[in-house]
Amino acid sequence: TPHLLSVSDLEVQYRRPGQLPTRAVAGVSLDVQAGEVVGLVGESGCGKSTLARAVCGLTAPTAGGIVFDGTPVGPLRVRRREPALTRIQMVFQDPYGSLNPRRRVGAQIADGIRIAALRGDIPVPESTDGPVEHFLTRVGLPASAAQRFPHEFSGGQRQRIAIARALAARPSLLVGDEPISALDASAQAQVASLMRSLAVESGAGLLFISHDLSVVRLIADRIAVMYLGRIVETGTTAEVWDNPRHPYTQALLAAIPQPDGAGRLPTELPGDVPDPAAPPSGCRFHPRCPRAFDGCDREDPRLNADGVACRLYA
Ligand code: SF4
Ligand code: MG
Repeated sequence: TPHLLSVSDLEVQYRRPGQLPTRAVAGVSLDVQAGEVVGLVGESGCGKSTLARAVCGLTAPTAGGIVFDGTPVGPLRVRRREPALTRIQMVFQDPYGSLNPRRRVGAQIADGIRIAALRGDIPVPESTDGPVEHFLTRVGLPASAAQRFPHEFSGGQRQRIAIARALAARPSLLVGDEPISALDASAQAQVASLMRSLAVESGAGLLFISHDLSVVRLIADRIAVMYLGRIVETGTTAEVWDNPRHPYTQALLAAIPQPDGAGRLPTELPGDVPDPAAPPSGCRFHPRCPRAFDGCDREDPRLNADGVACRLYA
């Protein structure tokens, strides 16, 4: 079966006046199947959001391609409101990225329903009240929420509203860009599992982006780890969690506090994420890599057939 989403050798470059061009995404390939949850993990500034924005047609790639359900994705096509591309729906870190603070919740979910009706996927409903209530119920909110405004809800509830709005548009791909990182710990796991179950139930794919590997591993079928614009490791969640191979993935895992209070390993990454406008030579991770060896500052490893981009596994 063809992939629902296929990203190949994607490059996104930013140019700001008087500055070096930044390759925020540098040669990324990634697939998502229908009904599959892919977690994209990395520190802030690694290019995750840029990748998400390109997938949703909000940012133009400099090279490479994105194909969604047989349709090439590009900003122009999205601006022209190509109906097929409304099947990609996004949930942002800040729910006000998807919600209008001045409109009642019900009216905003009804917008999603109208998007699906315009596309011809559902009949134009005589009244949106019933469907709005249906989507509110699915995200665990009472029907009375329809009459209220977004600011009357907690952060976790607002994210549920944003999810209801996205779902109402009948997406076949849901993209969450750090949808839980502004929430408190208990709401994080709830909202993440809700996104997973709603996507899987409706047969949609979910690309779930987060800096938090410990939450991603609870909901993802596959994980891709990103560092400075590159995917450095990819595999099933069990493979990545139980047997991380790339030194960066190993360090991410080591940094996760354990329930007994001890870290997995006494490893801390030295230094900050380098400036993506001036990435290190050779392996982009070499200045921080505890296992760097001769040649890592010159040779730039690409993702191998086993899904790891590191010279230790060449
Ligand atoms: Fe570390 Fe070298 Fe592997 Fe890069 S290629 S992750 S520097 S060991
Ligand atoms: Mg981001």
